[in-house]
Amino acid sequence: MSTCQYMQNADRVGELTAKLGAARARLAHAAEAAGRNVNDIELLPITKFFPASDIFILHQLGCHAFGESREQEAANKVATVRAELPDATVRWHMVGRIQRNKAKAVASWAYAAHSVDSQRLITALDRAATAALAAGTRAEPLRVYLQISLDGDTERGGIDVGSPDLVDELCAAADRADGLTFVGLMGIPPLEVDPDDAFARLAAERDRVQADYPQRLELSAGMSSDLEIAVKHGSTCVRVGTALMGKRPLTSPAVVTPVTSSSQTSPPPRSAEGSPR
Ligand SMILES: *Cc1c(COP(=O)(O)O)cnc(C)c1O
Repeated sequence: MSTCQYMQNADRVGELTAKLGAARARLAHAAEAAGRNVNDIELLPITKFFPASDIFILHQLGCHAFGESREQEAANKVATVRAELPDATVRWHMVGRIQRNKAKAVASWAYAAHSVDSQRLITALDRAATAALAAGTRAEPLRVYLQISLDGDTERGGIDVGSPDLVDELCAAADRADGLTFVGLMGIPPLEVDPDDAFARLAAERDRVQADYPQRLELSAGMSSDLEIAVKHGSTCVRVGTALMGKRPLTSPAVVTPVTSSSQTSPPPRSAEGSPR
């Protein structure tokens, strides 16, 4: 099906047009309230669980970057979009947790990775991106955000904000790596913490790390429910899923973690990446 044909799904085009307009307006309003230039803040659509047809529609509406959280799902969409729009520059952001054995795959399609949180992962991504650069399958180093855990519960991903030496060490490792470009920090407010406090803590950590780097460090912070608060605290990239795409479908067995045994879906593979939020 051609891109034009996707645009014939008038209901979805109308829905995405309206939601994208609303999300842009929200972001503009948040920037204004924070006394910031909205152009300094990227609105990154998070398209996980949604089909490539939505990406074609959003692309027509002026979106050129998309965030995904699962390697296999992303790789399939990237291939579909590349086949359909071979001349388009579309930037793919990996925002979910990355298993080390997926580093090579991620480095083959991702423009940026937002949830890097260990030396082992930095090493694996660097190796993979360096090989891809040498092979000509990447044009630029992989942009890396280090994920900061704001409550010390590193099981859920991120480097403990209470371990500044480790944060410094991993930032330096990412910055040193030839295959990577260290661009900044990412954080997700823990469920039981006020997002205002969480983003303030994340911003303070960015400011602390900033002292060691000449490049202005980015802050990947804010999702559908809390983007205004993140913008107030200096976010330069809000990752918006639900507010833009609608509620994520819960029908694909491969992408759902069943909560109860009565769940209609089959269990995920043992190696399932992180927990989708
Ligand atoms: C899914 C996801 C988002 C988008 O969340 P919404 O609440 O749907 O906006 C943002 N960041 C990450 C890391 C995600 O996995």
